[in-house]
Amino acid sequence: MRSLLMHSPIAIALFWIGNYLLITLLPLFVLLIYPPPGARGFWVDFSVALGFIGLATMALQFVLTARINRIEASYGVDILLQFHRLTSLVAFFMVLLHPVMLFVVQPETRQLLNFLEAPWRARLAILGTLAFVALVVTTIWRKPLRIPYEPWRTSHTVLSVLAVGLGLGHALGVSNYLALFWKRMLWGSMALIALWLVVYVRLIKPWMMTKKPYLVEDVIPQRGNVWTLTLRPWGHDGFRFQPGQFAWLTLDITPLSMREHPFSMSSNADHSGRIEFGIKALGDFTSTIETVKPGTKAYLDGPYGVFTVDRYGDAAGFVLVAGGIGITPMMSMLATAAERKDDRPYLLIYASKTWDDITFREELEALEAQLDLKIVHVLKEPPETWSGEQGYVDKALLDRHIPKYKATRQYFICAAPKMMDQVERALHDLGVPVPQVHMEHFNLA
Ligand SMILES: Cc1cc2nc3c(=O)[nH]c(=O)nc-3n(C[C@H](O)[C@H](O)[C@H](O)COP(=O)(O)OP(=O)(O)OC[C@H]3O[C@@H](n4cnc5c(N)ncnc54)[C@H](O)[C@@H]3O)c2cc1C
Repeated sequence: MRSLLMHSPIAIALFWIGNYLLITLLPLFVLLIYPPPGARGFWVDFSVALGFIGLATMALQFVLTARINRIEASYGVDILLQFHRLTSLVAFFMVLLHPVMLFVVQPETRQLLNFLEAPWRARLAILGTLAFVALVVTTIWRKPLRIPYEPWRTSHTVLSVLAVGLGLGHALGVSNYLALFWKRMLWGSMALIALWLVVYVRLIKPWMMTKKPYLVEDVIPQRGNVWTLTLRPWGHDGFRFQPGQFAWLTLDITPLSMREHPFSMSSNADHSGRIEFGIKALGDFTSTIETVKPGTKAYLDGPYGVFTVDRYGDAAGFVLVAGGIGITPMMSMLATAAERKDDRPYLLIYASKTWDDITFREELEALEAQLDLKIVHVLKEPPETWSGEQGYVDKALLDRHIPKYKATRQYFICAAPKMMDQVERALHDLGVPVPQVHMEHFNLA
């Protein structure tokens, strides 16, 4: 019973949420312990509390985004990033509410907005808030503002360090709750841990990766404008992964440049000496894959992700729903299952544009012969002679193919965001239990 509780998703969620709340609120409670705060009125204290909780929540974002394996392995990068976005927005509104409340209950504080005449502690607050506003605006509206991903990522780190650093500088400058030395040390250490995580993620980890390079062995063209990039570890054993997981790939440049891209491994997970990625030419980086020469150096940071059949060893079978390049994690799951002689039933519902576009079509046919695997191709533009499924993967189509005893299977979806939403909703309408549906989004930012 105890071990069941320890491993149930709800218990894990409660554990992390409990820890999160504790870490966010504890530094504030510590400020209130001793000496007791002077009576400044409820609204003033409430506004200050919002500022402190906002600051602590911001500092914790560095932990959420540091790719810490233990945290990541509980949920996967998708949920972690959603949590990061949500809690950052909550922190943003708390930080904004802090001065707004003060301006209302103590109108004389409004003169602190006069940047040239305000004391430096108020200037730090203004600059920190502006950094936070820029952070939120450039993240929510990155695409409409046409900010390319790489510069956005660098500015995101710089602005968050500035927002937290200036916010803490403001709190230390006000020196009301943080007047005592040990309280200053406590909050200062929190900021230092956050800064250390930035240095670790941006410098130390990439430097460690330079010690474990890979070499490109092959670049093989596939159907559907996709290339299989094959890597071999050079001077080390590579890494073990679970089928369906992904890694961050850096190609032909040092990992310290932080120009890395996430890709799901498409190869057999039990062969760490040869790792393959199926990469679709969609943008600046992915369009260069076809020109990569064998012998090019590469670096991998991984494995990451929880989108894997290995987490469900007791499932009676699997339903995989892929759209386009979303086939890569499924390829890894099926290739690994074939090698492991897994005799459980697999159903693959695979949406492509045309018959000729079906990435890994021949490889999948070969897997059909080795596994209890049924493949349902769904074509958007089928040939005239096509008698199979066509159009969209909707509720009716799923109902025709997924097993009668739906709850005995685990379901994996990887496709374009719209298709994933539709399939998720359709599975839900068909009575598939929510915890048995797993999704991998290829668009993190
Ligand atoms: C978990 C995961 C697994 C993935 N697996 C595969 C796969 O197996 N095969 C495949 O072809 N694609 C995969 N992708 C998508 C792939 O990472 C992006 O297509 C690629 O990074 C786009 O880079 P680009 O410079 O070619 O395109 P761009 O035109 O520069 O970018 C297109 C969009 O891709 C996203 N993007 C760009 N650069 C990055 C980056 N460094 N990190 C994260 N997102 C970025 C941004 O949202 C951007 O707007 C995966 C993505 C994720 C998150």
